[in-house]
Amino acid sequence: MGQATRTTKLALHFGKREEGGVNTGKRAYLEATADVLNQARAFYLDFFLAHAQKLAERVSYYSEKYLEMRTRAISSNELLTWAEAHTVETREHPHPWEEWNFSKRFPQMPFVYRRAAIKDAIGKAHSYLSNLSRWEKSGKNHGRPGRPSAGNHPTLYEGTVEIDLESHGKERARFVRLKIYTGTTWIWANYPIKNNRYFQQRLNDPVWEKQSPKLILRKTSAELHFSQTREISAKKIVESKQDPDLVTVAVDLNVKFLAVITVRQRDRIIESRFVSDKGLDQQRYRHLKRIAKKQWLTGKPVKGEQSNQQLWRHIRRMNESAAHRVARAITTVCAKYPGCVLVFERLRKIRRSEGSKSRRMNRKQANQLRGKINQYAKEKAYALSTVTAEVNPHGTSQYCSRCGTRGERFSYLGDKRVTVKWGKLFTCPVCHYEAQADHNASINLHHSFYQEYHWQPRLKRSG
Ligand SMILES: [Zn+2]
Repeated sequence: MGQATRTTKLALHFGKREEGGVNTGKRAYLEATADVLNQARAFYLDFFLAHAQKLAERVSYYSEKYLEMRTRAISSNELLTWAEAHTVETREHPHPWEEWNFSKRFPQMPFVYRRAAIKDAIGKAHSYLSNLSRWEKSGKNHGRPGRPSAGNHPTLYEGTVEIDLESHGKERARFVRLKIYTGTTWIWANYPIKNNRYFQQRLNDPVWEKQSPKLILRKTSAELHFSQTREISAKKIVESKQDPDLVTVAVDLNVKFLAVITVRQRDRIIESRFVSDKGLDQQRYRHLKRIAKKQWLTGKPVKGEQSNQQLWRHIRRMNESAAHRVARAITTVCAKYPGCVLVFERLRKIRRSEGSKSRRMNRKQANQLRGKINQYAKEKAYALSTVTAEVNPHGTSQYCSRCGTRGERFSYLGDKRVTVKWGKLFTCPVCHYEAQADHNASINLHHSFYQEYHWQPRLKRSG
């Protein structure tokens, strides 16, 4: 059993007013809200760090199981009640501590927001204090953990957000109601949303349980991010391996062909798919050349220079969308074979590459992309109950996938056949098998998973 998570995003509409967007004043309210919530979190973070001994308190209780008094760590609910009793003015507690009077500093803040701030602060304080004590025990001079920052995207728990997502015929919700801070008071306000059928279906999918959304504010956009979780029951890989009809889907990640997918069942490759980068590597290289040139002209990396920032953003987007596209292609294959195991090679640490600066930067981006594809594909596949196995990448591109002999890679330069490490093709000196090198590597991943050929003795020794 495990849990898969995904995020469904709902954009608030900040277009021109006449096009149905929100006015700028309302946009400023969102910033004021995030801001005051950060301050509230900072208040409680300071409060708990000033009372660190309370966080470490042990509570005695009577254990029904052991029929005796025992002690346990104080729970975060107890900490919350304790914190509220000393910081918030109520009928039962009319006099909060003088220097920690939350009610005075943040009048009228809805209690849902306050409690969220307290819970966040408890989490942050706990992890900071335990990091600190670990560091003190280690006796190191450097690397002292810094005080945690209080900044977070606000979570909109029930009572601070209202959105009607039931479909009323063709009518879809066009507004979301948020409890927001204007800078002086707390009010409910309507915000237009970019709702569509896709969003609604995805969010209302009954197998995915939705959590309270987070408000993500960026320079030019604002979105509600709904995290969704789903319980997954997937077989363990050792169990799956017992099944003689097990289907394995192996993925070799590369640069030109971002992914070469091969599917194997009962010793036969039953499907192969090449997912090309559609020229991404070349495009990215050209952009990076422009960036490197600009940096060189000014003699240093230009931090914050407008156009370079835009180029970087563009590159990040290109990588991001390519990663999602390839991950989707991989999971589409997995979806065809329920109960299959997805096989990746463990991503290697890449040595610093040679060549020009732009070439090195491009290599780095390509490696990041591979990491992203790997991560997204794993997550998306897991939501379909497909588990992922990671195998040792040793030798996958150098050995023959037919007979296991060490072969060589070559390429054609014009008509001339040249043997090079980066060759596009693979040839075996023993069985004379020739294949596209990445395809050969992809098939080898299945061998590695089943520990066949040259992987066997080595794995046995190490295991
Ligand atoms: Zn061979």
